[in-house]
Amino acid sequence: MRIEAVLGDITKQDVDVVVNAANSSLLGGGGVDGAIHAAAGPGLLAACRELRASRYPDGLPVGHAVATDAFELPARWVVHTVGPNWHAGERDPAALAGCFLASLEVAVDLGAHSIAFPAVSAGVYGWDLDEVARIAVASVRTWAVGTDQDRTTDGRPQGISLARFVLFSPPALAAFERELTTRPA
Ligand code: ADP
Repeated sequence: MRIEAVLGDITKQDVDVVVNAANSSLLGGGGVDGAIHAAAGPGLLAACRELRASRYPDGLPVGHAVATDAFELPARWVVHTVGPNWHAGERDPAALAGCFLASLEVAVDLGAHSIAFPAVSAGVYGWDLDEVARIAVASVRTWAVGTDQDRTTDGRPQGISLARFVLFSPPALAAFERELTTRPA
């Protein structure tokens, strides 16, 4: 599995799955959540409302992930995950790792081959960018090792062949590039 980091807008990514740093209400918010809803169009909010009513009346828990259609985005699906909020005392690295791991699991179940992640929890939720980069890269690497991503049947790749971190600022890109050029522990 290729793991890369790029500077860009996640709403423009031509990948199967775009991960949204949602909040537990699933009803939209600011930051990357607002950008994804704006670009996907009103169908996304309707789908999120439906999910909320049918499956998550108490909200999507931190570290969990759930998929919707991607509507007007180039992607096929949006996977919504809720990062831990540092300002609310949610400071467990395992909770943030859970966002990346759960999103990958949902993506595989959908039959996706490529996935783009934002820097979950590094915005309004206040986590240190370097810490997010460290946890994000380690999580995706661990997951890739733990799953047999190189398996092929009839020459067709199974599972996720591309995980792309899409960063919104040069410092964020630099933090992720540092992690990606560091040899895995
Ligand atoms: P959280 O509430 O999980 O912290 P935010 O949306 O506030 O989520 O921020 C997460 C990260 O997403 C931040 O680093 C922010 O700069 C970045 N971001 C905001 N808009 C976009 C976008 N369109 N594409 C990619 N990243 C974005």
